[in-house]
Amino acid sequence: MKRVYHNDGITIYWDSSKCIHSGKCFSGLPEVFRPGKRPWVNIDAADALKIKRAIDRCPSGALTCKLNE
Ligand code: SF4
Repeated sequence: MKRVYHNDGITIYWDSSKCIHSGKCFSGLPEVFRPGKRPWVNIDAADALKIKRAIDRCPSGALTCKLNE
């Protein structure tokens, strides 16, 4: 499953087939990455730079993002 989440600050790309369930996303930023909830990415719960830093720790490439200008 692939999903895109976006707001003014950031666009998040999610590819579930790549996830290795390391938990780094939700241990790093639990207010944004919420397994079991819908939508599981609460994109407005943190600022874009904070979200990017959390996504940069995803080891599998399941989560990627770009900061919006
Ligand atoms: S950090 Fe990446 S690999 Fe780990 S659970 Fe989150 S999306 Fe999956």
